[in-house]
Amino acid sequence: MFKTLNYKRVYRTINEKNLLHNINEINNFKNQSSEIMAVVKADAYGHGSVKISKILENNGVKIFAVATLEEAVELRKNKIKGEILILGYTNIEHINTLIKYNLIQTIVNYEYAEAISALNLKKSLKCHIKINTGMNRLGEEYYNITKIKKMYDMKSLNVLGIFSHLAVADSQKREDIDFTYKQIERFDACIKHLETLNIDVKKKHLQGSYGLINYPELEYDYIRMGIMLYGVKSDLDDEVPLNLKPVLSLCSRITQIRTINPGDCVSYGCDFVANKTMKVATVSIGYGDGLSRSLSNTNYEVMVNNHPCTIIGRICMDQLMIDVSHISNVQREDEVIIFGEHNTVEVLAKHQNSITNEVLTSLTSRIEH
Ligand SMILES: *Cc1c(COP(=O)(O)O)cnc(C)c1O
Repeated sequence: MFKTLNYKRVYRTINEKNLLHNINEINNFKNQSSEIMAVVKADAYGHGSVKISKILENNGVKIFAVATLEEAVELRKNKIKGEILILGYTNIEHINTLIKYNLIQTIVNYEYAEAISALNLKKSLKCHIKINTGMNRLGEEYYNITKIKKMYDMKSLNVLGIFSHLAVADSQKREDIDFTYKQIERFDACIKHLETLNIDVKKKHLQGSYGLINYPELEYDYIRMGIMLYGVKSDLDDEVPLNLKPVLSLCSRITQIRTINPGDCVSYGCDFVANKTMKVATVSIGYGDGLSRSLSNTNYEVMVNNHPCTIIGRICMDQLMIDVSHISNVQREDEVIIFGEHNTVEVLAKHQNSITNEVLTSLTSRIEH
């Protein structure tokens, strides 16, 4: 909107250097036999999927994963040439769109494969078969070898790979580690069984970001990297053996500054009452931009001119207020970094009892790129 004007009410900035740094970190850590599949679903976790995918494609990434058909088509319309795997379900009516845009569809189970087969497609559909190894979300059961074999043999399907998903790869609890090994075992046994039936299973993949860092010894063809590509952990307290650097900063602007007196309140509900004379700034971002209202009254700090400032009072739909008493040179239109390299989204997520994945993908289209 208003592209000719420089002023943006609320905006995101991408640090390309940090993105490339993260790719490098991951490449140096992973097995040399596996390749990064960049997960750019949900607008690349709020970073902007086209922009991120273009940077990644220019730096050697050859395969992308999205959640939906719409997300995949957007990448194709914006000239992303690499392979694109849709991790989610696509309605049968849209199978021809998948073929038209040269996309790879996840086959969620045998019954879905049969429904596609019944369409008598002129051209076969590129796909990866999803195997359920215990998460019980999408996938054909790992032990239904006959059905899985039949899917490989279907004329309508051009099966290019097989994958599953780990449910507790981020956990350090003994029972969760045991469960993950059980999932790995089931996936491997399924593949082995298919191979004894002379099926070339093609590309295999199981790990996401946490699967990589906690089970680095695995040697599948792809690692589906989402959150850590963007330089953040899901949870601040997770231990990660990579030196990640955050890619996204969320910024807004100060729109007004005033002085309030002891006893004066701030924002809806008058939750916040000043106990001293204070300088308060209004900032043009709110929960309508995707910043959770549950951050209100948490002592979370945004940055203004390199000074941390706490959010005071309730966050409104389009605005919030911060304490700038300790900053002498603060002015209207000064930039406010809601989260970035110093005040990370990991810390923000902690303050609202969430994970960074949710915070990043909650940002709305009102936030300019
Ligand atoms: C979202 C998703 C990923 C990426 O997970 P991260 O933890 O963000 O790396 C990988 N695989 C599947 C199936 C997903 O849905």
